[in-house]
Amino acid sequence: MRVKQITPVFVEFIPEQIESGKLYISDEYEIAIHKCCCGCGEEVVTPLSPVDWRYTITSHGVSLFPSIGNWKYRCKSHYFIQDNGVLWAKGMSPAQIQRVEQQDLSDKQRYIRERNEQHNTFDLFRLIASVWNRVKRFFGFKS
Ligand SMILES: [Zn+2]
Repeated sequence: MRVKQITPVFVEFIPEQIESGKLYISDEYEIAIHKCCCGCGEEVVTPLSPVDWRYTITSHGVSLFPSIGNWKYRCKSHYFIQDNGVLWAKGMSPAQIQRVEQQDLSDKQRYIRERNEQHNTFDLFRLIASVWNRVKRFFGFKS
């Protein structure tokens, strides 16, 4: 049976037995899990990070972005969790699914590339700062 309502449960560790209609969220381990809302019983794990899923809590309830696409499961269900409700999306063709997966992958790669560039810039600044300090010491300047 399809689940129409889903409520958040905040946990540190994901329990071994999870109930349908509940979204278990562990901020500690940056992960959320719920049973597929189509009722197939599959457990859907959603890592929480800038390139994976993000959740928001408002007075209306919990929302999870982006949508849940269970392409890997037989049910291939696709839905949104918004304000404690489950909104069903239209079924996607295999070509559409592939496009979404490729988009996800390239988003992830871009994010990692940007993070690495930030690190490199930071290292460069540190290098310049340490060279400058050595130059100042060489000439006897007080820093
Ligand atoms: Zn399912």
